[in-house]
Amino acid sequence: MRKLVAGNWKMHGLAADLEQVRTIAEASRRFPSVDVALCVPATLIERAARAVPGFAIGAQDVHFADKGAHTGCVCTAMLTDAGASLTIVGHSERRDAQRESDADVRAKADAALAAGLGVILCVGESLETREAGEAIATVSAQVDASLPHGEGAAAGVPERFAVAYEPIWAIGTGKVASCEDIAEMHRAVRERLVAAYGDAAQQVPILYGGSVKASNAPEIFATENVDGALVGGASLTAEDFVPIIAAAAGAVEATPPIA
Ligand code: PEP
Repeated sequence: MRKLVAGNWKMHGLAADLEQVRTIAEASRRFPSVDVALCVPATLIERAARAVPGFAIGAQDVHFADKGAHTGCVCTAMLTDAGASLTIVGHSERRDAQRESDADVRAKADAALAAGLGVILCVGESLETREAGEAIATVSAQVDASLPHGEGAAAGVPERFAVAYEPIWAIGTGKVASCEDIAEMHRAVRERLVAAYGDAAQQVPILYGGSVKASNAPEIFATENVDGALVGGASLTAEDFVPIIAAAAGAVEATPPIA
């Protein structure tokens, strides 16, 4: 399978940073086996999309409603109008700070897919949950309750849909899950996807996220069932992000073709 490497710029990015977007987009052309995307702040989507035509610029969140009295929120039509081609939904920082429920996340994923956007749906466990030995059960339940299952799912799964496993304790902390734990979790996520969508779910990329950087990317991309990465801090500059894209390409090349 091709790899997908998406950057999540979080609340970083001003006009001056469009130069990084241009450099990353230009460099990513050297790695045709990797789909690359940058999810920038809403304020930068339109300028980034204009700066790099044909390159995937995404949002970090979207409201599930078409329009209405939702101060500060952005709907799917606004994202497509601005030039976004995908959005993250259910990032743990939003689940936590904005109290987003699995039902909210599911509604967002459905709305985005129905509008023609790609979706990266995030799931992941807290440190307490992992230490209690409940990581697999918790993330599996989160996947079951967050997966799109309406009109959007019918239109966009598997082609425009990916799941990102992001252990909360690994995000922005420099701590990375072990490859064994990642493989075990991705296997569990794949099982839930197949239970929901049948065989088509084999095509849904499962990304790992949590302190991915150039030094650990080759090992992570070589792990079973890891189809790419969602990268926060190390996606902010081409210097840090392009070597991660290169590592993904290296992993694709190292994988023998399915006979
Ligand atoms: C993220 O925000 O999705 C993320 C994985 O961040 P970082 O790579 O900085 O841990």
